[in-house]
Amino acid sequence: MVEVKAAVLTGPEKPFEIRSFPMPEVEKGAVLLKVEMASICGTDLHIYRGRRVVSYPSILGHEGVGRVYRMGEGVTSDATGNPLREGDRVIFSHVIACGKCYYCVVRQDPQGCLNRKYYGYASCKDPPHLNGTYAEYIYLSPGTPIFKVPDNLSNEVVSPATCALITMIEGLETVKVELADNVVIQGAGALGLYGIALAKEMGAYKVIVVEQSDFRIRQALEFGADHVIDLKEYRTPEERVKRVKELTGGFGPDLILECTGSPSVIAEGLEMGRDPSRYLLIGTASEAGLVSINPTRITLKRMRLYGGKAAAVHHINLLKALRFLERHVDKYPFDKIISHKFRLEEVNEAVQAMERREVGKAALRP
Ligand SMILES: [Zn+2]
Ligand SMILES: [Zn+2]
Repeated sequence: MVEVKAAVLTGPEKPFEIRSFPMPEVEKGAVLLKVEMASICGTDLHIYRGRRVVSYPSILGHEGVGRVYRMGEGVTSDATGNPLREGDRVIFSHVIACGKCYYCVVRQDPQGCLNRKYYGYASCKDPPHLNGTYAEYIYLSPGTPIFKVPDNLSNEVVSPATCALITMIEGLETVKVELADNVVIQGAGALGLYGIALAKEMGAYKVIVVEQSDFRIRQALEFGADHVIDLKEYRTPEERVKRVKELTGGFGPDLILECTGSPSVIAEGLEMGRDPSRYLLIGTASEAGLVSINPTRITLKRMRLYGGKAAAVHHINLLKALRFLERHVDKYPFDKIISHKFRLEEVNEAVQAMERREVGKAALRP
């Protein structure tokens, strides 16, 4: 029997185990992908540490690129109608709404779906088991939207985009970057870097990044940030707010994006915004503690706060991400978002290196 290796998490803070599963038969409408790259998301680190609970045992990995290995009966094209063949390089949507609940049917808002099906977050106890990208193969059940990847996009460019870029596309289309907006981005991880590229292409005037890591500051500048406020230089919130005001004609930014995952920056973001401004909170996706804020900054400055979260369930975002990358891959160093690559067997080293912030973003090559 042919076996497939996968990295399995058996509980919070337990090391990943490499386990073997039988190569599944492919049912009607399903697709089996050979995983070429699986990037590690910040969410995976939260799951690993137990800050976000999943059903164990679980094959993590919701980001990735693969090649079609087997197609079930009836599969002839990708989600856009492009003919699909074995060997094609594809991405897939890692969240599927049920189509039947209150949110899906009445609200027509699949992001609120009460019975979402996930890849990379669910139990792998039952066959066909292979439901995450930290594996040699992933089994895509019937109904999973699949998109062919344009030839000019490398796996390094596409893999991290399958989560962070689509999250940022949804967020920025919600808050709307208006022509000549001054934009402050708190944090230059993958979300923040995509935020720079998208904000500029959507018409921003100045993009100002607030960051502390030298590695990420360099990346932000390579992505075309107009200014970087280095936390090592501007040490207090007051100094940073003052600097942001100086850079925005004394008023403060029109739009602020929280991309750090650290709620401690929110009070500072509220101080920065001009009257009135928009503030998108999109980085903090796991329980990270309480913060105190000054509510008059919201009321008296008429600030509008928006919450954003992962948006793969809006499958159109995957198409937008691929088209955006296809057009702008030569303009921004998207291929540098993945800074280190590891073999599947090195998954524990990869996760720990990311946690210690020794690497920008890591990817597995099963
Ligand atoms: Zn993710
Ligand atoms: Zn639903």
